Amino acid sequence: MELKILGSICFLEAVGTVGNIMGYHLGAGICLAGTSLLTVYTVYLGMEKTHKKICPECECEIRKSYRICPECGNDIY
Ligand SMILES: [Zn+2]
Repeated sequence: MELKILGSICFLEAVGTVGNIMGYHLGAGICLAGTSLLTVYTVYLGMEKTHKKICPECECEIRKSYRICPECGNDIY
């Protein structure tokens, strides 16, 4: 999932760069869009990580706001 998104963004960047080299004005725009997406995605990933914790019972990643693990039903606090 994460690799797919990153791959798509890299592909977009590559297309934009090639377009830019070939003299298409659109290329710079695509490049900029790719970079913006990458920035947004990185920030999103960082937020996801800080909002998650590991269940001590089944060791699955769950949201910090959960008090009961949705996977195993363990009461975390
Ligand atoms: Zn659990």
